[in-house]
Amino acid sequence: MRCLVLTTILILTTGPVLAHSGAVPAPPAPSPTPRQAKPVGFKLEKLTANAYCLYGRGGNVGFLVTDAGVVVVDDQYEEVAQGIVDQIRTVTDRPIRFLVNTHYHGDHTGGNPVFIKMAEIVAHDAVRPRLLEYPEAVKKAFPDRKRRLQEEIDAIGDATDPYRVALEKDLGLLDFLLKDALSFNPATAAPPGLTYDGRMRLWLGGQEVDVLHVAPGHTDGDSMVYFAKEKVLHMGDLFFNGMYPFIDVWAGGSARGYVTNIDQILSLVPPDTKVIPGHGPTTDVATLRRFRSFMSDLIAAVEKAAKAGRSKPEAVRSISMDQYPEIKPTFRTLGNEIAVVYDELTPAR
Ligand SMILES: [Zn+2]
Repeated sequence: MRCLVLTTILILTTGPVLAHSGAVPAPPAPSPTPRQAKPVGFKLEKLTANAYCLYGRGGNVGFLVTDAGVVVVDDQYEEVAQGIVDQIRTVTDRPIRFLVNTHYHGDHTGGNPVFIKMAEIVAHDAVRPRLLEYPEAVKKAFPDRKRRLQEEIDAIGDATDPYRVALEKDLGLLDFLLKDALSFNPATAAPPGLTYDGRMRLWLGGQEVDVLHVAPGHTDGDSMVYFAKEKVLHMGDLFFNGMYPFIDVWAGGSARGYVTNIDQILSLVPPDTKVIPGHGPTTDVATLRRFRSFMSDLIAAVEKAAKAGRSKPEAVRSISMDQYPEIKPTFRTLGNEIAVVYDELTPAR
């Protein structure tokens, strides 16, 4: 089934920098490693009196414990979902009442078949069709997309050319998304049963949980989740801490949307909020702000290059973001980011 294939695209580094559905975190390169080959080394971090971050295999899991039950944000992969439940059980026996999917990617939704047995699954309206219908669209569109990418790659002789490297990363992603779609089984899908557009609030045990969608950013169905009383924010993949983000333009993502989302959430949460990124360690508002600056500086640099008449490959080859040494390449390179922004700023080309 769908999430099984996603398992093959794990990043097997230690710690919280982990996998992404369709996003092939590298190093190491995606490999056909069987999903059970490496045990999950969960790391549970207590953030406040009632809020936790759980690092495992896939997107970071956040959860809030209340007297009336538990709210969980994201659930990694099916094969680790029971392990997530077990980790939650080490701190509370309260029922798991809600699970929020921050977006459709399988490293954030793969555990749904397990969680749907115990919790209401909540997500933005766009997540449900992405989980149920998108695989068919991928099957139709991606083979041709892959072929065109391969032709572009073959036309660049220098294997170290940063534009070629970026294209190869894209090809890897397309390949895995396609394999993912081909193995999708709608009969075993466990999509969200409660969807929203804009903003919703969950009230549980005297706690308020704000679930907010602002604009397409990482995908077209992103949610940010704020545990108001605890001052803990889960950004989903609208924030990659310490690495270049994956902007899933094939699923409606937008570089400028990243900035829009971050600006909106920063206007709503206090400066001492603890911030859980989709990938990377939990951090603070200042680091999120810094990531926002990276995105806006990148957009400005690409805009300048485009206005100067540079082509997309030329922009990729000439722009550096050395002022952000802490943001590192993984399964995405700076070239990928530049290319996405370039396409977004120059849609007619
Ligand atoms: Zn994602």
